[in-house]
Amino acid sequence: MKALVVDPALAHAGGRRQRRAGADVLPLDVREVVTPTPPAPGWVLVRPALAGICARDLDLILADRVPDVLTAYRDGAVVVPGHEVVGVVEQASPTRWAKEGSRVLVEPTLRCAHKGLPECRRCRAGDTHLCENADRAGALCSGPSVGSSVEAGGGWSEGLLVHEDMLVPAEGISDQRGVLAEPAASALHAVLRWFRRGDCAVVIGAGAQSRLIVATLRRMYSDLDITVLYDARSMTRPRRGRRFRQPLHLQHDIGPDVVAIRALGASRVWRGPAEELLLRTADLTGSRLMRPKSGGTPVLDGGVDVIFDCRADPTSVDLSLRLLRAGGTLVLCGRPDRQAVEWPLVWSRELTVTGAARYGKEPSGHRTFAVVREWLADPAFPVDGIVTHRFPLEDFDTALETATAGVSAGAVKVVFEGPVAAMRTRMDEAATHVEPLEEPLLHATAARARNGR
Ligand SMILES: [Zn+2]
Repeated sequence: MKALVVDPALAHAGGRRQRRAGADVLPLDVREVVTPTPPAPGWVLVRPALAGICARDLDLILADRVPDVLTAYRDGAVVVPGHEVVGVVEQASPTRWAKEGSRVLVEPTLRCAHKGLPECRRCRAGDTHLCENADRAGALCSGPSVGSSVEAGGGWSEGLLVHEDMLVPAEGISDQRGVLAEPAASALHAVLRWFRRGDCAVVIGAGAQSRLIVATLRRMYSDLDITVLYDARSMTRPRRGRRFRQPLHLQHDIGPDVVAIRALGASRVWRGPAEELLLRTADLTGSRLMRPKSGGTPVLDGGVDVIFDCRADPTSVDLSLRLLRAGGTLVLCGRPDRQAVEWPLVWSRELTVTGAARYGKEPSGHRTFAVVREWLADPAFPVDGIVTHRFPLEDFDTALETATAGVSAGAVKVVFEGPVAAMRTRMDEAATHVEPLEEPLLHATAARARNGR
């Protein structure tokens, strides 16, 4: 079968270390690999219909992007990325319910039981997303999840191995929505990290994660006031556009994005420098700007109740700590790096800072994926516009560049089409008229992304 393989060894061997979007990336290539076979009862081979590209996948590829402390979870082996998967069961070992031909969503976490390890304390307690053996290999497989496991493989391929415990039936959910199950589960988990007190929320970002958090907040709390601080900086791109007076992320026309984000449930979408956002939030919440004696950036005396920071870089974290009211909550959704934090603001105002990286079982006892499945099957959950680009595996260069460029190039969620989607598309082409506009538009966006504009 075909797979898009990341092979770090080639880089060390002086192989084709590539530069993409201005950064060093590990060598990757579409290759023929041996089709994995289910290693034990309960395991199945899933053929992806669509597999998403997310920041974590880009972490796997971009050589020096991961904070050193997190590299303990990696073994540096050859992997097939891709953990956002909707697909079809192709080959099943003896299973309880998963049958060949079933359409499924994949919850990618590999826990102790899947790997063939004795259960850790967290797995025994049901908090499988906090498994203490994420870095350990068992008799059956290694890696914290599909997409970073040598034995299980990943979604950027024609097949990956999954235990049936990790499958969720996809009946009644289109591929376009099903591929959002994993990021939607992350969004729901992030929202549930806030034990609601107050009615004023801020979401920082503009990409798929921010949009899914907005849609989730709106679905859970119809009365919540939600401000999106639009931030289109690409985490993986070097700073460009210094010759312009405004940085690149403040330049492009955000009109269509504002409409899209409002349609997901945002009360308003703002963009601007930190001081201006603080002033506007003070107006909105009826709070006062407290200015440090030294004249530095002000702090709100009664700001917003919660912030979901999908960037989590020094600028966004600092802004968040100043926008929050005393006792407010900052949920770190984007992956932060090692960075300086104005801790006196956290201490003196008793802020809560919490991480949100995964999903599993929520405090209500519900499995995150079970809730997400229900929401995705409901057409009123307005997420159809989030997948903006589809590419076959062979076009991985363009796909990864488009995903890296992100919203400033018109890309929200970029996905690979697996063999199942290709078969379906061929059937559709034979039966129906094909929309002629889509492809030139797609290529135009990809070209813009390539030129870094
Ligand atoms: Zn465990």
